[in-house]
Amino acid sequence: MTKEQMIEKFEEMYGSGGDIKVYFAPGRVNLIGEHTDYNGGHVFPCALTLGTYGAIRKREDKTIQFYSLNIPNKGVIKVDLENIAPSEADGWTDYPKGVFWTYQERGYKIDQGMDVLIYGDIPNGSGLSSSASLEVLMGLIIRDSYGFADVSMVDVALIGQYSENNFNKMNCGIMDQFASAMGKKDHAIFLDTNTLEYEYAPVNLPDEKIVITNSKVKHSLVDSAYNDRRSDCEKAVEELQKAVKIKSLGELSIEEFEKVKSVITDDTVRKRAKHAVYENQRTIQAEEALKKGEIAKFGKLMYESHESLRKDYEVSAEEIDYLVDLSKDLSGVIGSRITGGGFGGCTVSIVKNDTVDTFIQEIGAKYKERFGLEAEFYVVDIGDGARQLW
Ligand code: ADP
Ligand code: MG
Repeated sequence: MTKEQMIEKFEEMYGSGGDIKVYFAPGRVNLIGEHTDYNGGHVFPCALTLGTYGAIRKREDKTIQFYSLNIPNKGVIKVDLENIAPSEADGWTDYPKGVFWTYQERGYKIDQGMDVLIYGDIPNGSGLSSSASLEVLMGLIIRDSYGFADVSMVDVALIGQYSENNFNKMNCGIMDQFASAMGKKDHAIFLDTNTLEYEYAPVNLPDEKIVITNSKVKHSLVDSAYNDRRSDCEKAVEELQKAVKIKSLGELSIEEFEKVKSVITDDTVRKRAKHAVYENQRTIQAEEALKKGEIAKFGKLMYESHESLRKDYEVSAEEIDYLVDLSKDLSGVIGSRITGGGFGGCTVSIVKNDTVDTFIQEIGAKYKERFGLEAEFYVVDIGDGARQLW
């Protein structure tokens, strides 16, 4: 989207004149470290150059108006700044509304509304975190527009997460908002979700590309299954506390876990905990491998991550497993795994430059033959985090 296009669309909707600003917040892909972010473990996401754009202009009154070019049938949704509450009828705007609400909850005074026009080029609901990008976008816009200078970009991420947890009632961890707010071009973010300490790791892959495959499948009950996994992990921690002093599964090494795991009484809960512990350790190893340029090891860890998500955490899907299995038959694929919350959505793969075309053609064709679905492929670049563009 160019500056001219965003401003033209904005003026079409809301009239011309005044001070129109344009912001951008990226979606993200997580290379490894899945379902570890609410278990006090590590994650390893990167921001994409795909994301959500927002053009805004402040108003004199206390009304906020929202319009998304992606969801034109909803029209302009008006919200009273002094009366912000979740509403099913308002649909998608519950995400940006929640961010206004969170600032208010934290005691920030917002006494002027604004007109907001949104456009996103990330597929929604595919596990690339369009929702987090929308929240981070709004969080940054509010910070800048009302001059809340004490709010850092990490705070913007935390505000987005708080909003999704408490306004949208989706119990997500911090990874998605953090990646969108703090992303860095050509780097992945190695984040300890327990302490929020982070380190940028250069993703220097001259011979490979990161390819995202969208299965176009999203099985229902995603949100409830996600919340079930969270409570399984909480149960595991409670039982483990009889044997070790921990607050989260991310604190355990593999050896420690193996020693004490028998205090977990339920087989399913034990499998969930196993995934959280092993996945965290894989993520730590994967960052080291990437730093040393051991890309084959990185790929192996990606495949192991997938197996664990499939068998122990049980958040994969038949379609996604098929995509990952197909990738194993191609010699130029370094690694592949499900990315995002699960039950469909996308895989992320690292593919040799000269295999990318074959990857797209062969996997696309076989997937279509088996499931009758056209997978979408995105050969992605790693971009910077949320910022004002114009
Ligand atoms: P994901 O975050 O993986 O893309 P979610 O289901 O968490 O999937 O979030 C998708 C939702 O976010 C959409 O259904 C919509 O409500 C909202 N959303 C994301 N991007 C946009 C956009 N450009 N315009 C309007 N709503 C959006
Ligand atoms: Mg989301």
